Amino acid sequence: MSGHMTPEEFRRYGKQVIDWIADYQENVGSYPVRSRVEPGDVMAALPDHPPEEGEGFEAVLADLDRVIMPGVTHWQHPGFFGYFPANASGPAILGDLLSSGLGVVGMMWATSPAATELETRVADWLAELLGLPDRFRGKGVIQDSASSAALVAMLAALHRADGGRPARSGITRRHTVYISSQTHSAIEKAARITGIGSGNVRLVDVDPRTLAMDPSHLDALLAEDVAAGAVPAMVCATIGTTSTTAVDPVRAIGEVCAKYGVWLHVDAAYAGVAAVCPEMRWINDGLDGHVDSYATNPHKWLLTNFDCSVLWMADPEPMIGALSILPEFLRNKATESGKVIDYRDWQIPLGRRFRALKLWSVIRWYGAEGLREHVRTGIRLAQELASWIRDEPGWELLEPHPFGLVCFRPVWDGLDGDEADAATLELLERVNASGELFLIHTKAHGRVVLRLAIGGPATQESHVRTAWARIRKERLGVRG
Ligand SMILES: *Cc1c(COP(=O)(O)O)cnc(C)c1O
Repeated sequence: MSGHMTPEEFRRYGKQVIDWIADYQENVGSYPVRSRVEPGDVMAALPDHPPEEGEGFEAVLADLDRVIMPGVTHWQHPGFFGYFPANASGPAILGDLLSSGLGVVGMMWATSPAATELETRVADWLAELLGLPDRFRGKGVIQDSASSAALVAMLAALHRADGGRPARSGITRRHTVYISSQTHSAIEKAARITGIGSGNVRLVDVDPRTLAMDPSHLDALLAEDVAAGAVPAMVCATIGTTSTTAVDPVRAIGEVCAKYGVWLHVDAAYAGVAAVCPEMRWINDGLDGHVDSYATNPHKWLLTNFDCSVLWMADPEPMIGALSILPEFLRNKATESGKVIDYRDWQIPLGRRFRALKLWSVIRWYGAEGLREHVRTGIRLAQELASWIRDEPGWELLEPHPFGLVCFRPVWDGLDGDEADAATLELLERVNASGELFLIHTKAHGRVVLRLAIGGPATQESHVRTAWARIRKERLGVRG
């Protein structure tokens, strides 16, 4: 075996790969959800050295089954309820395959005009599907992740706050960033990367019941910091926090940001796509106010394989000011005409994948109706699970739970707080060891709670029933 794979060979192996994936989709429910390998097991099954001579692709497929599959946790399993869903779907996989097949790098309009223009168009389609305000039209970009989206937003915010100085001479003044205890760690990470530093990330109080950010405390912190000579750079509000899907009051937060001229980034990584359903549009409240950037991830709940996070900018200029550097070798007529978008200036790396193809495939395959149906199913199943938990003595349910995530815990009579937490974690371990389902925990109101996120395309009511039955059964073993 040597030399490039010919189109004929590609055709043959490619069909085998598609068959392999289709078989996997059919059988994914028969695997234990969480991989059972121990650290080092997969490495130990792999040769220490690369092959000197090329091998047939059959050998790769054989090792995929033998070495790789035991080390895979099955995110597409109907019993996967961990983190947030990372939906894969047929049209998205095929769209991604087409992107790989074309192998273009759409760093600028000129390096593949369709990659740019399709991306702008599908970002507009998604904005329309979600009912986002008109001022985001034509100003969307696909990032690899919500973390990157937040970093880009923060760089734009810094640029605006300092009149372009950070781009030229680095950060010289003290800047501050505002989040709550419930905000995703990606925002603090962005503060570290930008040089603002974790020490300048301010924690805004949350409502003790809903865990939503308190705008009046935000106002107080901003006043205090400005008086002390700091330059507030960015506030991040979250629609659907990762821990419990709390929703920050974006409109009220935006009013505070407007008062101080601070950039407001809205992180709706998981929950934002729920707005495909008109009955969920309440989550967009305030986006028509003072919001500078907004991001949501089709790669979580909207059937588009990782990675695909869409970021919209109300005004892209500060971002372009912060990120655009034009070396001689990238100069071209289209860029100079000012008539095109060069997405290299809308992200950290230069090179970029043609991700719009998979989002385009998904939206066209499902249509608005299909996407709504998928989100509604997740919400309906979560409401059903919540109602079973509510009706079962000896369990505590965290309210509210407007999306696909349900947080709950057993009430352990006679145990103090720490003992109860330990018992809940033991229950979690027993449940996950069953292989039937997989979920994780979080802390809410100071206590460990189980966190069950519904939203996989294969998940049906029967899987949620099985999960709840297993959880109740394993509970009996914890203190037995
Ligand atoms: C998942 C999540 C993120 C991180 O998403 P990535 O795309 O993996 O970076 C950020 N914020 C929230 C609210 C999330 O739920």
